[in-house]
Amino acid sequence: MSGAQQAASWPDAAGRYGEFGGRYVAETLMAPLLELERGFASAMADPAFMEEVRRYLREHVGRPTTLTVAENLTRHLGGATIVLKREDLCHTGAHKINNTLGQCLLARRMGKRRIIAETGAGQHGVATATAAALLGFPCRVFMGRLDCERQAINVLRMKVLGAEVVPVDSGSRTLKDAINEAMRTWAAEVDDTFYCFGSAAGPHPYPWIVRTFQSVIGEEARAQCLERFGRLPEQVVACVGGGSNAIGLFHAFVPDAGVGLVGVEAGGHGIASLQHAATISAGSVGVLHGSRSYVLQDAWGQIQEAHSISAGLDYPGVGPEHAWLASTGRASYVSVDDEEALEAFHLVARTEGILTALETAHAFAHAIRLAPTLPKEALVLVGSSGRGDKDLNTIAARMEREA
Ligand SMILES: *Cc1c(COP(=O)(O)O)cnc(C)c1O
Repeated sequence: MSGAQQAASWPDAAGRYGEFGGRYVAETLMAPLLELERGFASAMADPAFMEEVRRYLREHVGRPTTLTVAENLTRHLGGATIVLKREDLCHTGAHKINNTLGQCLLARRMGKRRIIAETGAGQHGVATATAAALLGFPCRVFMGRLDCERQAINVLRMKVLGAEVVPVDSGSRTLKDAINEAMRTWAAEVDDTFYCFGSAAGPHPYPWIVRTFQSVIGEEARAQCLERFGRLPEQVVACVGGGSNAIGLFHAFVPDAGVGLVGVEAGGHGIASLQHAATISAGSVGVLHGSRSYVLQDAWGQIQEAHSISAGLDYPGVGPEHAWLASTGRASYVSVDDEEALEAFHLVARTEGILTALETAHAFAHAIRLAPTLPKEALVLVGSSGRGDKDLNTIAARMEREA
């Protein structure tokens, strides 16, 4: 098998992507993870389930999402044509709903009666609460107390959708602590509870499940590129937090050796400042949340806090499949700092009339670097992962400071 074919066939039976991935968890979590793996494998083999997922995506999410040629931005940059895969047009404003609806439908198929989830900035919590409301599940979302304070609007959204938000007081009172708490709760209540995990990270089978539900992004985009341009893009660019929108966009293109894949991590205040979330670019191999991958850790293996202006990229780990794609060179990973992401945010708003999420602005920033270096015939496909209305407070604070 070639490297590309191999990458497209992961994970192996042990949930590994080369040396990455796996299931490094306490004994109490092994049974629930094995049950989940069996439940998911059985659902995948059931055409009726997959058709049901497609129907929900069509009717409740608004799929397929559009492919947009960013004509003004392209003209402004004077190089490759920039094309956008518009996940910002999904119900709830980002790609996350593809995953939460898929997992909640899986929960129903497995006979579970309650949903739990973790959330950092609140976006995955809102997407889970949305899917749970739609399918009639009670839902509890664990959220670091610090994050609850910083993201009060998302706490309100979840409550209005009928979810219970549980503030977490351990550790740094942020996302990594919320994940730990959700896993502990799941282990104690596994008989009737389904844990809806938020990114293509965590222990096997989550990276596989999340990639599967998100790979609709790349499948659609690949077919739309062929239909519209008669060929594939030269470069595919997506931002990487835990890695779900990026792996969802990349997956269909992995076997296409001529298509470059670029993941864009959050450079925060700059790599040298040590205040960033550039896990692959500047981290090292370790274990976090049950998975072996790149992490931000100190010399003693203690997980370090991540920083980014975009709350959704603010995670000190990354999905194991990205670690594998990076280690084989099939995909490359770069970082974009807060300032460059903000510049991209404003340029995209003014040229295209799109308020992009600050996470997504990192992908745009790299496309903005790339396009002028490529010929006009080249296509750069950007994963437009979400919309930026949620970030306007951050933008307002910045604009005030600068004025
Ligand atoms: C959550 C989020 C991300 C980062 O998460 P991934 O799992 O890496 O995709 C990126 N963009 C948007 C709009 C988000 O809400």
